[in-house]
Amino acid sequence: MVDIASRIIDIPDYPEPGVVFKDITPLFADPEALRATVDALADHFRALGVTKVIGPEARGFMVGVPVALELGAGFVPARKPGKLPRKTISMSYELEYGTDTLEIHADALTPDDRVVIIDDLIATGGTLAAVGKLVEETGAALLGYGCILELAFLSPRKVLETKDHEVFSLVT
Ligand code: 5GP
Repeated sequence: MVDIASRIIDIPDYPEPGVVFKDITPLFADPEALRATVDALADHFRALGVTKVIGPEARGFMVGVPVALELGAGFVPARKPGKLPRKTISMSYELEYGTDTLEIHADALTPDDRVVIIDDLIATGGTLAAVGKLVEETGAALLGYGCILELAFLSPRKVLETKDHEVFSLVT
């Protein structure tokens, strides 16, 4: 059994003093840990009939695409403003200082889609909550959220978890 948590490294005072950044690049560089991560996320959602995985820019792409492949689902990127070439829908969300915005193509999902949102890490839950609102705007069914690492002390489940939307994390 691969120890996923041991491949995530704490980086003190990055990107600014007082912040401990969780570096997932050693996990991605280790073939066995990468395989175990993708399999564990895909296995959790496999029985749900997922048709689309959404991942936010940019580490959500790294996790979301292989999970989508494992599930036999498509992948939809949620991107920063101005990066997608066709008509988009967008959602803004609060940061510690200021706001950020994510967009998906307006035709990326249909009401028939069954969607899981995947990212590397959930901190406050603000990023994935914004993506969740985009999914709901399209009429697609939002099944839940998945991540490698959840920072439980920031209580993201208060923001994300409902009776219809589960939160699944490999490491808490
Ligand atoms: P939230 O919106 O939940 O507060 O923050 C989660 C988003 O910020 C994710 O997209 C994640 O990639 C990024 N993020 C925040 N802190 C970290 C961190 O310590 N490590 C990594 N890898 N990503 C982080």
